Amino acid sequence: MSCFQRESSRGMPHPMIIIKQGGGKIISGASMKEMPNILWLEEIRKEDISSVGGKGASLGEMASIGLPVPKAFVVTAQAFRRFLVESGLEKKLFAAYDKLDVENNEALEKAADTAKAMVLKSKMPQKIKDEIRAAYTKMNGGSLIVAVRSSATAEDLPDASFAGQQETYLNIKGEAALIESVQKCWASLYGARAIYYRAKQGFDDNTVNIAVVVQQLVHSEKAGVMFTSHPITGEPLTIIEGSWGLGEAVVSGSVSPDKYVFDQRSQKVVDTLISNKKVEIIADGDHGTKLVDVSPARQDAQVLATEEVAKLAMYGKIAEDHYGIPQDVEWGIVAGTFYILQSRPITTIGSKKEAKGMTGQKQDVKILVQGQGAAPGIASGRVVIIRDVKDTGKVKEGDILVTRMTNPDMVPAMRKVAAIVTDEGGMTCHAAIVSRELGTPAVVGTKTATNVLKNGQLVTVDGEKGHIYDGVVAAATPDAKVATMQQAIVGHIPLITATSVKVNVSIPEAAARAAATGADGVGLLRIEHLILGLSKTPGWFITNNREEEFVRELHDGIKIVLDAFPGKTVWVRTLDAPTDEFRNMQGGENEPHEHNPMLGWRGIRRDLQSPDQFRLQVESFKQLWKEGYEHLGIMFPMVSHPDEFLAAKAMMRACGVDVERVSLGIMIEIPSSAIMIEDFLKCGIKFASFGTNDLVQYTLAIDRNNENVADMYNPQHPAVLSLIHNAIQMCRAYNVECSICGQAGSDPKMAAWLVEHGITSISANIDAIAKIREAVARTEKRIILEAARSRDAE
Ligand code: PEP
Ligand code: MG
Repeated sequence: MSCFQRESSRGMPHPMIIIKQGGGKIISGASMKEMPNILWLEEIRKEDISSVGGKGASLGEMASIGLPVPKAFVVTAQAFRRFLVESGLEKKLFAAYDKLDVENNEALEKAADTAKAMVLKSKMPQKIKDEIRAAYTKMNGGSLIVAVRSSATAEDLPDASFAGQQETYLNIKGEAALIESVQKCWASLYGARAIYYRAKQGFDDNTVNIAVVVQQLVHSEKAGVMFTSHPITGEPLTIIEGSWGLGEAVVSGSVSPDKYVFDQRSQKVVDTLISNKKVEIIADGDHGTKLVDVSPARQDAQVLATEEVAKLAMYGKIAEDHYGIPQDVEWGIVAGTFYILQSRPITTIGSKKEAKGMTGQKQDVKILVQGQGAAPGIASGRVVIIRDVKDTGKVKEGDILVTRMTNPDMVPAMRKVAAIVTDEGGMTCHAAIVSRELGTPAVVGTKTATNVLKNGQLVTVDGEKGHIYDGVVAAATPDAKVATMQQAIVGHIPLITATSVKVNVSIPEAAARAAATGADGVGLLRIEHLILGLSKTPGWFITNNREEEFVRELHDGIKIVLDAFPGKTVWVRTLDAPTDEFRNMQGGENEPHEHNPMLGWRGIRRDLQSPDQFRLQVESFKQLWKEGYEHLGIMFPMVSHPDEFLAAKAMMRACGVDVERVSLGIMIEIPSSAIMIEDFLKCGIKFASFGTNDLVQYTLAIDRNNENVADMYNPQHPAVLSLIHNAIQMCRAYNVECSICGQAGSDPKMAAWLVEHGITSISANIDAIAKIREAVARTEKRIILEAARSRDAE
């Protein structure tokens, strides 16, 4: 326990405050009388954390170093404690859940509801009400629109960081609404998630307090986030993301923002990436916010002028210099006035530090379940187990989605969650592919997660290691922004490789992130994810005379990706969905039941037997070629014999395609196509790409989605490597581009091997582009160096 006494910034002695943090200090109502109910931002310093909470202290500190922080006052923790004492709640409230077993989810929810209701129903002392009213009036005559944010005294502390447990209310106007929101913030201290977290972290609930920040709501015309230094290497490169409207759109990932890189050494903007910004979040009347479409004229317009980037970067530098550590800053601009809304340390700089935090810290780190790390990143949140796709409505922003296996109907829920965990599947299953594209950490193939984990349980998912930890692992970074930021920087790294490094895309909304990697094109666009998202089978569209709609959907989805890669080759693959993936969709009742869908009616073999389905796809390609998208190439999946390639080509010709002009190629994913590659080359394929996800399963007889044999699934098996080596050599002999788009292409070791063996291009997942580009560059340099050395030796 530690006590301290100090002079306040107003020259008044602060009373003795005892605070309980992770380290064991306790807040109490000691000497409460002298403490004000309200503190203005200008009066606050970071040492005031026990009165104003982490958020309030940080805002005060920022204002004190000259950052343009919107005006604000704080309803102090002591005001809250007075409320508890004077309303008689102090005793009743905690007694209500004194013996609570927080692992019992039902009891936890009930206790939380009771406690929250008690706080909401109790009367706020008149004096506190009056002081809040007076402060509000002083702000701007009492009509200012404000944000009301909880600022828990344990929040944002270096080792107990767990933001977001308590509520924030945006766009609040008028005294009555303000007072109600303050009380709601107080009540949110007793949310189930918050109670659980405190119990697990050893906080004494009797003594935890909450402050409430009341701050002018900046109705930003443009806003976003900024990393004051490179989030991985710490280089003095300031990365700024910005979009239209309130910053929530960027923070929540609802929009692909513009990205700017400012070099603090040369004081120049060294990289700018303008995105297509489709939506923005704006104020909704007097209450709340809403998501609206951005007007077409502003969608592709540049958000920040060079001088604005420089000014923001300057504020970033001030914050970083003051705190002595790179900062993650939220900013907004309205009518030319800049606002810095939040600044906190970037927790990811130096991945070694992060790794140490996960394993080397004092807190007990208990692994609950393990699987394959399928999408990198670390996130903490509350478990929601989904046993039936109909229940996906239960999933809330920031939850951890736990399910047997994801399917396309779950994609909307997958967009919201902080992480995804499945019982089944391997690195190439639906959950793994979609999570990687969404940038959401995922662990697949745990076998038991839906049994071992409990609804409401707080866990931390490590999508790199494949671990699910009990509770919140303090060093975990819940910051999804980092991944996005990394993409911005990757695009900036001037690594030119002779081997093209392309990117795989499955959902059009990932196109901007994919393009931000600076990839040399798209080596695989899987259109089945686009179709599966329509929730109706192609057969349904055909039977119900809705063919045009189907073609339009396909056309529009592909166009998004083509637009993100102007002038770069995009290989679109024709439909390849196993019949079981279609079953849950409208029209899915007509899908055949197959014993082994992986070996069944999928890929080109199905299209050749379903001419209408194939024709509709070709129709959408034709429109795109007509619109001038000449860089669109078409790739046929699951081809086992050159006759299939010729038949597909003939069908395209019959649909009116000039098949000799356009680029048509094949996936090599069945051993027969690797063995017969020369025959394909003689038939005029323009390119070939290894689909190792399937090539491995068909060569080794290992079901790629079966977690029981996942450890035998080996893309580097000599038989697989031999098929790949021979096919590459044959393609080289015919001067035809040879590529890879299977998951193995995202493994740096495999990429190095492929470069050594002469592959022309590698298409990797979005998250892997940087490391693959580096592996490719290194290998190419080594080859040149070795050649030079052996020449010298001769
Ligand atoms: C593959 O088989 O490697 C591939 C890229 O295709 P999919 O994963 O869609 O079967
Ligand atoms: Mg495949």
